[in-house]
Amino acid sequence: MSKLKIAIQKSGRLNEKSVALLEECGLKFPNGGGKLITESSNFPVEILFLRDDDIPQYVEQNVAHIGIIGENVFLESQKQINIVEKLNFSGCRLSLAVPKETDYEGISFFNDKKVATSYPNILQNYFNENQIKATIEVISGSVEIAPGIGLADGICDIVSSGSTLLSNGLKEVEIVLKSQAVLVSSQNLDEEIQSILNKLLFRIRSVQKAKENKYILLNTQNNQLEKIIQILPGMNSPTILPLAKEGWSSLHSVISEEKFWEIIDELKEAGAEGILVVPIEKMIL
Ligand code: ATP
Ligand code: MG
Repeated sequence: MSKLKIAIQKSGRLNEKSVALLEECGLKFPNGGGKLITESSNFPVEILFLRDDDIPQYVEQNVAHIGIIGENVFLESQKQINIVEKLNFSGCRLSLAVPKETDYEGISFFNDKKVATSYPNILQNYFNENQIKATIEVISGSVEIAPGIGLADGICDIVSSGSTLLSNGLKEVEIVLKSQAVLVSSQNLDEEIQSILNKLLFRIRSVQKAKENKYILLNTQNNQLEKIIQILPGMNSPTILPLAKEGWSSLHSVISEEKFWEIIDELKEAGAEGILVVPIEKMIL
C-alpha cells in the first residue's frame, strides 16, 4: 500500500511544532534518535526529516508528497508546489532594517544602496514592485552583522520580536512579507496518495478548529437567558440545562476564543455567573 511522504524540518524553529501537529492528528511515530526517515505505526505515512530550505525541491520532485515550511521559504524557492493549508504557527515577518542612527524617510532610501539578505528572490520582487534599484548581497546567515562590518547599508531578514535587530544596532523600517508555517504539496499526487492526504487534512483542520474555539459554560437566571443567547455569537444554538437551583439554568456553547474576550464583560453585565471556558481537543465539522 502507498504511503504519504511528509517532509518536516529536522531541527530548528519549525521542528517541534510540526511534530506536535502530526501527533495531535493522532499519528504515532518514533521521533528523535537522529533518524532521517521514519514511519507511523497507525497511519500510512512516512516522515522525512530535512533542512527546511530543501523541502520545496523534494516536494516539487514528488520525492516528498507534502511538507511543512515557512511561507518565506515557499516563496523564496519559486518551486512549482501548492500551499494546501496555512497552519497558524511560527508567525514571523520578513523585514528591511537599517542601522538605528539612519535618517530613514521612506522606501526610496534603498535606491542605490546595498542590502544583505538570504531572501534575494522575495526582496528583488519587492524592490521591483516599489521601483527601487538596489544591489542585493546574498548571504546565508548572520545577516544582521552585514551593516556593522560595511558589507551593506541595510538588511532584509526574518523578525519576530525584533530583539535580535536591536542587539545588533538595527531598526526595522519596512515589512516585506508576513509569514507563517504552511503545508505545501506536490502538484503530481496520484489518487491513492491524494486520498491519504485528504484524510490527514481533515484531521489537521479538526485540530486547528479546536484550537481557535473554546467550550463555554455559564449559569444564569432563566429570565436573562434570551439576552445571553443574543450576546453569544454561537455557531449552533446553545445547550440549556436546568440547575438544581429553582429558576436558574446552565448554558453550554462553543465560541471562538477571540470573541470570548470581546464579550466577557457583556456576559457578566447580562447576569452570567460561574463562567467556565475550557479547551476543546478536537472539533469535527
Ligand atoms: P534549517 O537548518 O532547517 O535550514 P533554518 O536555520 O533555515 O533551519 P530556522 O531558524 O529554524 O531555519 O527557521 C525556520 C522557519 O521558522 C523560518 O523559515 C521561518 O518561517 C520561521 N521562523 C524563523 N525565525 C522565526 C522567529 N524568530 N519566530 C518565529 N518563526 C520564525
Ligand atoms: Mg534553512
